[in-house]
Amino acid sequence: VKEEGKNNFKIYNGMLNKFTGHQLTFENELRHALKRKEFSLVYQPQWSIKTKQLIGIEALIRWNHPHLGLISPSDFIPLAEKLGIIFSVGEWVLEEACKQNKLWQDAGFPPLRCSVNISIAQLLHSDFPKIVSNILKRTQLNPKFLELEITESIAIVKEGYILKVLNRFKEMGISIALDDFGTGYSSLKYLSQFPIKRLKIDQTFLHEKSIINESIIRAIITMGHSMNLSVLAEGVENKEQLGFLESEGCDEIQGYYFSKPLPPKEVETLIRYYSPLAKGVE
Ligand code: C2E
Ligand code: MG
Ligand code: MG
Ligand code: MG
Repeated sequence: VKEEGKNNFKIYNGMLNKFTGHQLTFENELRHALKRKEFSLVYQPQWSIKTKQLIGIEALIRWNHPHLGLISPSDFIPLAEKLGIIFSVGEWVLEEACKQNKLWQDAGFPPLRCSVNISIAQLLHSDFPKIVSNILKRTQLNPKFLELEITESIAIVKEGYILKVLNRFKEMGISIALDDFGTGYSSLKYLSQFPIKRLKIDQTFLHEKSIINESIIRAIITMGHSMNLSVLAEGVENKEQLGFLESEGCDEIQGYYFSKPLPPKEVETLIRYYSPLAKGVE
């Protein structure tokens, strides 16, 4: 659990007591959030730098708390991991994202890759591959449209097991992206062995502009390409950052400059106009 996360729990606990006067804690609220249907997904578009077309969406969870309003995942995912409820929450996220994507396809929207964030605990759980394949069966989504985003730190725990699981996903037709790349501890040895499709450069390298951070971004793009990986930059907020990434040959971008994470209805408009398979303006 990150230090800032802990502080947030304290703040929320305090706010909650003030608002409700009950003994209910933030933890208890979180334990009940799933069955109370307080979670929802927003989707952030991912774009090709070259064609400026929409090529994917990332599902991001939101918690609509009855008193506190919308709570960001950074403020409750670490706690969900600590409480062990990340398994049920994570399964809900996967099923909801696959279901929504299939709904769009069935409604005639051009198909898109949909990325889902996976906690390390989920990935390490022995039931996880079965859970994923069951969800794909239930929702009837073609696995080639599902991408799992895992953080770079997986490369330092149980490498043998992780390699096995990731290869299984690859055989199933699911792709893997390494999220927040550059901030963890991945060894280049594992990076080259893991069946990874995409590196997502951590947004801090863009946001904290410096010569060294530009060099790091350049190095990640070069290294990614030499390993035949696609490279996506997260957190693109302005034209200048886009220009830099374009000149460095980055493949894909995601960020507020193009679009914030959006509720499903708003995503539909974007898919209709910007997907490479879209027929164009109707
Ligand atoms: P992430 O997977 O690295 O997602 C990117 C985060 O950056 C998202 O925050 C997104 O809203 C935000 N972002 C996107 N573009 C920009 C930008 O241009 N500027 C800035 N400043 N931020 C931008 P969000 O949605 O709050 O999610 C935070 C983290 O929570 C995610 O980071 C991911 O690690 C985790 N998370 C989100 N949904 C899930 C989930 O369903 N399961 C799990 N296990 N973790 C999740
Ligand atoms: Mg992510
Ligand atoms: Mg990230
Ligand atoms: Mg993150």
